[in-house]
Amino acid sequence: MINKSEKLLKANGLKVTKGRMAVLNILKRSVNPLDVGDIIRFCRNEIIRIDPVTVYRILNTFLKHNIIQKTEFNEGKFRYEIKNTTHHHHAVCTKCGRIKDIRNCGTKKMEQTLINKMSFLVHSHRLEFFGLCAKCRN
Ligand SMILES: [Zn+2]
Ligand SMILES: [Zn+2]
Ligand SMILES: [Zn+2]
Repeated sequence: MINKSEKLLKANGLKVTKGRMAVLNILKRSVNPLDVGDIIRFCRNEIIRIDPVTVYRILNTFLKHNIIQKTEFNEGKFRYEIKNTTHHHHAVCTKCGRIKDIRNCGTKKMEQTLINKMSFLVHSHRLEFFGLCAKCRN
């Protein structure tokens, strides 16, 4: 039986390896964007031996093929998540580190202003919010 992760790798012309499958599955299962340390830890929990260099190499391959995206959350490191078709932003709790996806994007007006006033055509944008989550505010 061929599973979805395997299909995704093959659709991108990538050879199916244990490491690639592991990293892909971990990112798919996670609700939060993960850093390299998280990925290695998850692999270890599943008794998959993988070194950081391999994880970086796999992540770079996935980035190149647009399977995942990386974001920097003012932590001095990148976090990675599956690139889903829905454009979204993040709300990051600066106390507990919880990261939530924000599905609605309110930047259309700003982009319109940029093209109208500065003749600047926006291709993409990034926007992350930092603050305290409901739990940490109490
Ligand atoms: Zn919090
Ligand atoms: Zn996200
Ligand atoms: Zn947006």
